[in-house]
Amino acid sequence: MTMRYLTILGSTGTIGVNTLDVAARHPDRFKVVALSGQNQIAKLAQQCRQFRPKYAVVLDSARALALKTALADINIEVLYGVDALEQIASLPEVDTVMAAIVGAAGMRPALAAARAGKRVLLANKETLVMAGQFFMAAVRASGATLLPIDSEHNAIFQSMPEPYSGDMAAHGIRRILLTASGGPFRTRPVETLAAVTPEEAVAHPNWSMGKKISVDSATMMNKGLEVIEAHWLFNARPDQIDVVVHPQSIVHSMVEYQDGSVLAQLSNPDMRIPIAHALAYPERVATGVPWLDLAKLGQLTFEAPDTDRFPCLKLAFQALAAGGSSTTVLNAANEEVVAAFLDRRIPYLAIPELLGRVLERLGGQPAASLAELEAVDAEARALAIKLIAAR
Ligand code: NDP
Ligand code: MG
Repeated sequence: MTMRYLTILGSTGTIGVNTLDVAARHPDRFKVVALSGQNQIAKLAQQCRQFRPKYAVVLDSARALALKTALADINIEVLYGVDALEQIASLPEVDTVMAAIVGAAGMRPALAAARAGKRVLLANKETLVMAGQFFMAAVRASGATLLPIDSEHNAIFQSMPEPYSGDMAAHGIRRILLTASGGPFRTRPVETLAAVTPEEAVAHPNWSMGKKISVDSATMMNKGLEVIEAHWLFNARPDQIDVVVHPQSIVHSMVEYQDGSVLAQLSNPDMRIPIAHALAYPERVATGVPWLDLAKLGQLTFEAPDTDRFPCLKLAFQALAAGGSSTTVLNAANEEVVAAFLDRRIPYLAIPELLGRVLERLGGQPAASLAELEAVDAEARALAIKLIAAR
């Protein structure tokens, strides 16, 4: 049994909290060295009291001061800024980094962990959508171990041969089958989608998640981002990735082999399972999640995705096919339009409409460097903000 020393980026979020839940069950295996949060200072302070990390990081000096004040009686180094996030992602005394900040803001710290050769537990899919090529190159160059946390990609990882070389054909793999729950609007009459509220969009039937990914699940942009994520993680072409809707969220994804075999990973829908898999890998630890009772579930169903109902899924395939910085554009614009929808500044159906327009204007540009991608990300955000304001 190996002791693991952890940095948790985004510890106050839903993935962060679930990570700490698993770690707390196995104090003989996991020691928390660093935590990070942003707005939820009281929660971060409480986590620091419970887990006694050496470092806690927030983005700005005002929040750092508030955290330091809340923790005046304990010995902890409070740091702030993106540099500090990169620092805790690459500490020599840390071997495992959970990358669970939401959005493109998580890319730099995740990349720092990859460059430092850590075991990188990647929840932040936006890192791969924004800068997959550069992130994967950093993983290869440093010899980092990349373990997917997204439940679908974790399932694919578990259903792949080990070690997986990155060559699907050489392993006799035909395709990846990504499962999707279909979210809260799978069966809602299409003519009522115009009236969808933020409250309805974040009410996911099977998972309790942060707001941004919950809206992405409602539009199925989340599945689109996951197609792009699978492309980079497993070196799969778009035509080797199929999406199948599975409303019960028990089969978390599948790998189909040339002989017709399909391997899957099943479990109750609880993120502590993929998190525990990656934390303990290649060992296994208990999570406290109830055992899967298939007889009680009765049936598992599958259907084809409806791309008329979910145009965001189509946009993601289009961006992936267009290549270059197109997925960076899609990701950045999506963060802006989702934030605007959550703020009630635009209606639900404006999400795919505005994304289509930003992609049309800015998609298809080459991406020669990370700096270029960051510039494209900023450009796509600026255009999205302009289009949101003009509505
Ligand atoms: P949450 O919104 O619950 O948590 C996000 C975390 O990031 C919080 O700790 C938040 O701090 C912090 N944060 C937010 N903005 C910034 C910023 N600009 N800089 C630094 N830190 C920031 O999200 P989730 O936990 O749901 O998701 C995290 C990531 O994991 C996302 O990329 C998501 O796509 C992915 N994921 C999540 C799944 C889930 O089940 N939740 C499943 C699969 C993937 P604070 O809250 O203190 O402001
Ligand atoms: Mg997922």
